[in-house]
Amino acid sequence: MAKSISSADVGADCSWSASSETEEQLMEKVAQHAKEGHPGLEITPELIAKIKSHIKDV
Ligand SMILES: [Zn+2]
Repeated sequence: MAKSISSADVGADCSWSASSETEEQLMEKVAQHAKEGHPGLEITPELIAKIKSHIKDV
C-alpha cells in the first residue's frame, strides 16, 4: 500500500499529486513541491497537520 496526496486535496489550485511508500517520503515530496510550486507559501504546523489529514492509502 502506498500513500498519496495532491495539492487539490488541501484546497490548492494546482494539479500536482504524488505518491510514495511511506508518509515520511511523501512529506519530503510535498515539501519540495511546496518550495517549487507554491513559493511564498508558509509551511506552518497547522498546514502540515492539514496535509497529513488528507494523505490517502492507495
Ligand atoms: Zn501544488
